[in-house]
Amino acid sequence: VADAPFRRLPAVHVLLAHPLLAGRPHAAEAARAELAAARDRLRLDPDAVVEIEHLAASAAAMLSAAAGAGMRPVINATGIILHTNLGRAPLAEAAALAAYHAGRAYASLELDLATGERAGRQRLVRDGICRLTGADAATAVNNCAAATVLTLRALAAGREVIVSRGQLVEIGGNYRLPDILTASGAVLREVGTTNITRPADYAGAINPRTAMILRVHTSNFRVRGFTRSVPLEDLARIGQAAGIPVVDDAGSGAAFDGAGGSADEPDVRRSLSAGADLVLFSGDKLLGGPQAGLIAGRPDHIAAIERDPLMRAFRLDKMTVAALAATLELHAAGAIASIPVVAMLTRPAAELRPRAEALAAGLNRLPGVAAEVVEATGYAGGGSTPDEPLPSVAVALTVEGESAFARRLRLGNPAVLARVHAGRVWLDLRTVFERDDAALLATVLAAAG
Ligand SMILES: *Cc1c(COP(=O)(O)O)cnc(C)c1O
Repeated sequence: VADAPFRRLPAVHVLLAHPLLAGRPHAAEAARAELAAARDRLRLDPDAVVEIEHLAASAAAMLSAAAGAGMRPVINATGIILHTNLGRAPLAEAAALAAYHAGRAYASLELDLATGERAGRQRLVRDGICRLTGADAATAVNNCAAATVLTLRALAAGREVIVSRGQLVEIGGNYRLPDILTASGAVLREVGTTNITRPADYAGAINPRTAMILRVHTSNFRVRGFTRSVPLEDLARIGQAAGIPVVDDAGSGAAFDGAGGSADEPDVRRSLSAGADLVLFSGDKLLGGPQAGLIAGRPDHIAAIERDPLMRAFRLDKMTVAALAATLELHAAGAIASIPVVAMLTRPAAELRPRAEALAAGLNRLPGVAAEVVEATGYAGGGSTPDEPLPSVAVALTVEGESAFARRLRLGNPAVLARVHAGRVWLDLRTVFERDDAALLATVLAAAG
């Protein structure tokens, strides 16, 4: 009877015959490792997902990952919550399940079930964004970069967009604001200087070709010392007086006040009440949801954006719509504690310590490993709150050859991303799901063994 859950596992030769694995080099090792990991999962949770399709896909991804391809689940032990290389936000269970169910079946993506008529997919997220932001209209696209491009095309093609020189940011990758502006067909009109921009700089730049005032959240850096920027309220007043829309690219920041939202981070609701005509923000960075770009604000501007033919190129697929709608519902219901990003941002370091101590105790049993519980620093990541380190707790490992050790962790099952710092391998518990503690220990033990 104790073996009952294990009977759900396929035999090695059955798993190996799966089309994803059959005939691949090292498939037998991968299949055995996958089955061992599945047994560990079943020990913790007799209802764990161990269907053959899932195991075969996971083992195949492990084989591909060793060759530099293939996406695998990763235990994030870096302490960086919105880790862009790890896909930013791990979804809330409700959002992940919504994507799963939308993915494996047909769904009423563009069909009104009551009337049988075609209905746009935007209806599935519009109300949720409006409720969250207090806006009268909203739309959602593939990411915040796409939201910026569409907004610039709809409101400013061939005309000037005023931006402070202190806000001409590069977010990372190829995202440089001046290039995005040009690619969207708008003309950049820079005002002010790197550190100081005054209301008169904006007002003085307005001319008949001006289409928009754009404020950009300087997500990932701070200018200190002798600095001044123009508050959104003042920009709104200047825009209104001239009949020019004011758009706030909030990008990252905080959408969950009182739960990790910090005072000097932009809040989408605050942007609109300060007078912005539109606010743009990321579904992952701001909501802890799927990658998406959300646009909220004036109905006439939203309608112009939705008329752009490129809207089709940037639209959300059914799985993202499902995950975004579920995430918005969690925000509306005040159930944001079930959103992992929010939970990780707000968890007191003291709660991490017992878990770190258990991990260190498990590791110190091994010869050749010295594990110590240490204070660490986590970060929100994703370009958010660069000045606000999150006090955290880590296990620091002294091992022979820490880079090689970290590589073995990355290629472990499950994969673990650690931080190598000051000659030690750091495992920060802030970004590790408690449900993964046993698997984390198992991967580290295997890397040390
Ligand atoms: C992150 C960010 C973007 C880009 O958002 P994506 O969703 O990654 O496309 C744009 N603007 C700002 C201010 C950002 O922080």
